Amino acid sequence: LNITIVPTASPESTVAEVIRVFQQHGPIAALGIGSFGPIDRVAGRITSTPKAGWRDFDLAGTLRAALGVPVGFDTDVNAAALAEARWGAGCGLSDFVYVTVGTGIGGGALVNGQLLHGTSHAEMGHLRIPHDRGRDPFPGCCPYHGDCLEGLASGPAIQARWAAAPESLAPHHPAWRLEAHYLAVGIANVACTLAPERIVLGGGVMQQAHLFDVIRAELRGQLNGYVRAPEILPPQLGSRAGVSGGLILAEHAR
Ligand SMILES: [Zn+2]
Repeated sequence: LNITIVPTASPESTVAEVIRVFQQHGPIAALGIGSFGPIDRVAGRITSTPKAGWRDFDLAGTLRAALGVPVGFDTDVNAAALAEARWGAGCGLSDFVYVTVGTGIGGGALVNGQLLHGTSHAEMGHLRIPHDRGRDPFPGCCPYHGDCLEGLASGPAIQARWAAAPESLAPHHPAWRLEAHYLAVGIANVACTLAPERIVLGGGVMQQAHLFDVIRAELRGQLNGYVRAPEILPPQLGSRAGVSGGLILAEHAR
């Protein structure tokens, strides 16, 4: 795998550099894009992003026109889910969910072996979950919903609640029990909705390996024996999951 990193600047300059890289290393037969979201997958556009200049940008169309190849377009987290399902922690499973917990929270699901798409893409990070303000007075930091899952459990939420960088908090800090609780609530909702065999948790926050056992115990408690708890595991492809998923998106390019 040959990886070139182009920092995200304005859409025009970033895409011009991407085109230059592919022209230099090409020709290519097809292109797969795992984009930050939210996106309009069918139209090939970024939609309501706060990233300057990217709102409504026709990313797939611009690259398709410049490179003259079919383009597969989906979210970064769906691309990572595809890659983990084929080559990583979900290998061989037909019902599998990949969740990333970092600056945001996002999830991609394989259901019956197919990537799940509704009218758009799943937004598991914005699940509404119970918030006990006695235990946790932090109001949440999602600009759209306040105390959705991402607003309560993303890296920036941990940072804002405890006024400390998450990676600086010791494993016995109460931040982590609360974090495991929120993630387990979100995962319980995903498990009840999709009944996956396994849920893989990746992203910067999940570098805290001690979280996994606490999340598993919380999840078993919340499901309370009613349904079988899915396996909870770390990813296997690390930072290569997204680009590897791009290869699979390219297979389905049009
Ligand atoms: Zn939200």
